[in-house]
Amino acid sequence: MHNNPEEFIYDLFSLEGKNAIITGGSQGIGEDLTRTLAMAGANVALANRNVERGESMAHWVRELGRTGRHYPCDVSNKSEVEQMAAAVEKDIGPVDILVNCAGINRLKNALDFTEKEVVDIIHTNLMGVFWCCQAVGRKMVERRRGKVITISSMLSEIAWFQRAPYAASKGGVRQLIRVLSIEWGPYGITVNAIAPGSIKTPMFEKACERDPEFLKKITDLIPMGKPGLPEDHRGALLLLCSKAGDYITGQTLMVDGGLSVDGAHTLRLADQAG
Ligand code: NAP
Repeated sequence: MHNNPEEFIYDLFSLEGKNAIITGGSQGIGEDLTRTLAMAGANVALANRNVERGESMAHWVRELGRTGRHYPCDVSNKSEVEQMAAAVEKDIGPVDILVNCAGINRLKNALDFTEKEVVDIIHTNLMGVFWCCQAVGRKMVERRRGKVITISSMLSEIAWFQRAPYAASKGGVRQLIRVLSIEWGPYGITVNAIAPGSIKTPMFEKACERDPEFLKKITDLIPMGKPGLPEDHRGALLLLCSKAGDYITGQTLMVDGGLSVDGAHTLRLADQAG
């Protein structure tokens, strides 16, 4: 135990010298998480499809004095994920932290989903997480250390209309990380998820444009009385990927302003829908 409070906090939460991979880290919630990883001291490998956005974030990481590189990768493609994981190990070094943030959604009634839409959502949100955990986790198990954090959703716990494939994918993530936490616990690896609620990202702004009442409707459902922001996930991320979270595993941490706790909200949502 340090006697110096600043050193104590630094030692507990610092990611100095750690190597991290983040999928979907170049926009939305992931962009903020990439900045958080780098600010806390980590080198960051960005894995997503859009090269311009990936390169731009990698540049930002380098400007901060860390190693930052973009690896074009579709997480739903197992061999692309394996190649990305191997390339990161070769270029940057052993991976200490994996953040699975890549995700997609579409809103429709279950009966209206096409096969391609369902497959895309499940392949990206659930199987993509599986492939990344498998490719990166294999080395973590060999080295007997590592932190895996997946950005899930409150819909891993509660159900909302028009989100059947998405909720199924995030519910699957909840169970996936629980099983991995048991399999990899003996190797000192922690596996957790962060579950955002309703967060102000471009997707949220689009919903507000489509429906001027959307902001009020959603705000009324949130005990803390406001939607979340990407930066609201920083603390949870640092906890779960630093020394501070060494004995936390298999958990899905809700970062949703209490939205998933309020049992009456589904009823109120039904009233509004009806
Ligand atoms: P976003 O702004 O749409 O960003 C999604 C990111 O995922 C992008 O960087 C995208 O990059 C990447 N991505 C998508 N498909 C991919 C694929 N097949 N392979 C590799 N990368 C892929 O999303 P967001 O709203 O910030 O959401 C981030 C995460 O939080 C998701 O897992 C989402 O489910 C979860 N979440 C969001 C909210 C919310 O209100 N926004 C609420 C709960 C949970 P490329 O297009 O370059 O590949």
